[in-house]
Amino acid sequence: MKLNDLPTFDTAALRAKDAAHHLHPFTDTRSLNAAGARVIVRGEGVRIWDSEGQEIIDGMSGLWCVNLGYGRQDLVDAATHQMQVLPYYNAFFKTTTAPAAELSALLSEIAPPGFEHVFFTNSGSEGNDTVIRLVRRYWDLQGQPQRKILISRHNAYHGSTMAAASLGGMSGMHEQGDLPIPGITHIDQPYQLQHGKPGESEHDFGLRAAGWLEAKILELGADQVAAFIGEPVQGAGGVIIPPASYWPEIQRICDKYGILLVSDEVICGFGRLGHWFGCQHPHINTRPDLITFAKGVTSGYLPLGGVLVGERIARALIEQGGDFNHGFTYSGHPTCCAVAIANVQALRSEGVVQRVATDTAPYLARQFATLADHPLAGDAQSLGMVAGLVLYKDKAARTLFDADLGVGYRCRDNCFKNGVVMRAVEERMIIAPPLVMTHDEIDLMIARIRRSLDDTLAGLRAEGLI
Ligand code: PMP
Repeated sequence: MKLNDLPTFDTAALRAKDAAHHLHPFTDTRSLNAAGARVIVRGEGVRIWDSEGQEIIDGMSGLWCVNLGYGRQDLVDAATHQMQVLPYYNAFFKTTTAPAAELSALLSEIAPPGFEHVFFTNSGSEGNDTVIRLVRRYWDLQGQPQRKILISRHNAYHGSTMAAASLGGMSGMHEQGDLPIPGITHIDQPYQLQHGKPGESEHDFGLRAAGWLEAKILELGADQVAAFIGEPVQGAGGVIIPPASYWPEIQRICDKYGILLVSDEVICGFGRLGHWFGCQHPHINTRPDLITFAKGVTSGYLPLGGVLVGERIARALIEQGGDFNHGFTYSGHPTCCAVAIANVQALRSEGVVQRVATDTAPYLARQFATLADHPLAGDAQSLGMVAGLVLYKDKAARTLFDADLGVGYRCRDNCFKNGVVMRAVEERMIIAPPLVMTHDEIDLMIARIRRSLDDTLAGLRAEGLI
């Protein structure tokens, strides 16, 4: 369908309906309704359009998920075909479906060695709920039922269900839900800007930050600790890229105390870091026992998530476990699985993951780094196709703006105005563009971000805030 073929949208009417009836996730409804939601009506490649015809480069791949970009007919065809043949059937009644079986096998081909099994969910949150169930079941089967505690990190994001939000370390979420639930505890994140000491090297900071895990294990007693969970690169927390020394040290500590390692790859999976899974990136380099995935498995075209289950847990579950009393109506939904198969096949046959590693991500890194010469921006960093920078009030002194000024949100609004989606997380501005972005599109995205930084600076100056 061409843009001109689209029906016209009555933006005011849609906004009114939305304001009257739609409660948005993670949103202050009152202030949203005062401004009115932007109605997104179409996507093609790396671009989206709103109902008023504005073209916007989607620097966030939707919500870190549209890895192949918009408008892929092969994914549409896979869904259409499966819906015609068998839109749904469950996997509970000693039954399976062709797409669920095929996708399970395909995932074990692209997963790191030792991952031969998958448990399907609908979302990343349900994936991480499943992680807790699997981890605790594993230790029960090992005759160590007291090993219940999962250790995570402050400012981690692992989802929004009660258990996944507890695993996450978002204080604003914990405050509103009497969270975390019991048996989950947090250590500090490896964010040098927040926790580094003056003069400390990145390498030393990474080792010190990993050491917080060992200290927590010793405090709790190793025989009480079931697992450590982390995102290879914290996404929603603001694209916090840990030092290269961090993850290998975490792996060493988990091995030393026999603690399971869970890699939450809801963002980092399916090529985002230029490898099928983030743990395979040399900067991360871990051997997890469980991998949570969602988002990029279908490039967001349909909801699907799950957990890749490593050998020692799978063996215990299958050989000793009997019934595993956990699952969802839509675990292994055939239409979602069919789209995931088409998505993985396209990522593979078009060499997308490899191209990210050798070409697209290095190019993005170079272009994104140039933003650090802007007076407002510093510490521009990327890994694969995620990148973040810090908005500074005084870059030389590394002084941040007063949080109440909402400088990040001003910058984000300017980005939308200038035709690019960039997300604000406190002092950080972040992107995670589609993996299929071309050099020209990267250049245009960076130019629009630069213009938005200029506009933000001009606005702050006009108000006498800088
Ligand atoms: N884990 C991570 C690392 C995520 O980024 C997210 C979502 N942003 C989730 C889990 C939760 O996934 P979902 O929103 O699909 O439940």
